[in-house]
Amino acid sequence: MDTQSQVVDRLRSAFQSGITIPEQFRRAQLTKLVSMIKDNEELILHALHKDLAKPKFEAVLSELDMVTNELHHAIANFTGWMKPEYVSKSLATKFDDCFIRREPLGVVLIIGAWNYPLQLLLLPMVGAIAAGNCVVIKPSEVSAATDALIAELIPKYLSQDCCAVVRGGAEETKALLQNRFDHIFYTGSQTVARSILQAASVHLTPVTLELGGKCPCIIYGRVNIAAAARRLVWAKYFNAGQSCVAPDYVLCTPDILEALLPAVRKALLDFYGEEPQTCPDLSRIVTPRHWSRLMELLGKSSGKVVVGGESNEEDRYIAPTVVVDVAENDALMEEEIFGPILPILTIDSLEQAVDLVNRKEKPLALYVFSDESSVVNTVLETTNSGGFCSNDGIIHMTLPSLPFGGVGGSGWGSYHGRWGFETFSHRRACMLRGYALERFNGLRYPPYREDKLSWLRWTASPKPSCSLM
Ligand code: NAD
Repeated sequence: MDTQSQVVDRLRSAFQSGITIPEQFRRAQLTKLVSMIKDNEELILHALHKDLAKPKFEAVLSELDMVTNELHHAIANFTGWMKPEYVSKSLATKFDDCFIRREPLGVVLIIGAWNYPLQLLLLPMVGAIAAGNCVVIKPSEVSAATDALIAELIPKYLSQDCCAVVRGGAEETKALLQNRFDHIFYTGSQTVARSILQAASVHLTPVTLELGGKCPCIIYGRVNIAAAARRLVWAKYFNAGQSCVAPDYVLCTPDILEALLPAVRKALLDFYGEEPQTCPDLSRIVTPRHWSRLMELLGKSSGKVVVGGESNEEDRYIAPTVVVDVAENDALMEEEIFGPILPILTIDSLEQAVDLVNRKEKPLALYVFSDESSVVNTVLETTNSGGFCSNDGIIHMTLPSLPFGGVGGSGWGSYHGRWGFETFSHRRACMLRGYALERFNGLRYPPYREDKLSWLRWTASPKPSCSLM
């Protein structure tokens, strides 16, 4: 088996040979990825079930179809994305060809997290391949079955000179990061992101960080409570709350809370039945370690569990849980929950909710439920987050025409659709000149004179009068 540096060297040689540059090569690789997903659907579903007890329904929507849709979107559009983008010109550059050329970065590294173990690797990979890069992917060792399957499938379908899977945990990833990459695309926690940045700084490698944090959900004013509760419950307990864009906590007024709780109970009953543990539509916590962290967090909370709270370590099960009377300094408010526990904090005004949100790190997603457009607009205009969705949760990230990514502590950079292609491309500023108008160009040569300077400033200004031409 090749060492990590042999893998990176092999990919670098392939990149330098120019093999990934032609549009046909990129298209063929993307098409093979479509086949990989199609041919191995059952194996993928099985692996996802082994790792997270992921229901087929959720796995198809959030992993297989997300990746397949991204692939079809890229295949249909990337030829257009590759085209030179001609830009506006000044009078001084009127006769030049001025355009932006998207060029691949080289050998890029994509490091994935375990909660959507297929999607979080392959979605960025689509952008990287479409942009003409060679790609190393590093799956999370935590989702072990999907990690092993990806390592088995990728070499069978994609060019082994251009794409490789490197496996391992923290130590192997640290060793891998000692190699020089042309871009590092990292999905995971804020803590590990700091080590990634340190490693990247050695080679001055640009980095995209897709991180987590606490996504707030404000419910305020006139609200269709039954529908809001169903959408909130779906978004929160999808994948057992192990989604970076899951609503992390709710902020609402006491009267809304009073109406919301029975509606949430009803939605949970309708979705998962009297005994959620026996319901096949509920995922499990990924490992006993992650289960213990969540149970400790719940144990430390001073809030009151009003829904759920049951758990079973052997089964890595935690019931969909709702906690009320939660203070801003509660344990549940200190870190990203990343599990099926929903704290609800009561606020007296929209302003108070917005202030609370703005005191924290900028979130990856921010949700507001309200029938009043003034409420939705106030929250939109007075807060900041990676993404924003009113009257629903998670759904905004399924649209490839919207960039997906964080801001500040929730991440740097974005992807999905064209945004992924852009992330893995260098926008080369090109000006192709000839030797025409040398006298005109001569205005800039010494000996410098005031009249030459005035002419030059006029021709270089963004909107000179074109009466001369
Ligand atoms: P993690 O940071 O523990 O691991 C992510 C990856 O980093 C894994 O591949 C892991 O092997 C590797 N890794 C772990 N320790 C390392 C180290 N010391 N040095 C180098 N690499 C190391 O994250 P996780 O637990 O897999 O994922 C959960 C976090 O990811 C949550 O915070 C969640 O919000 C976030 N997340 C963000 C997005 C997004 O798109 N923004 C998506 C999913 C998850």
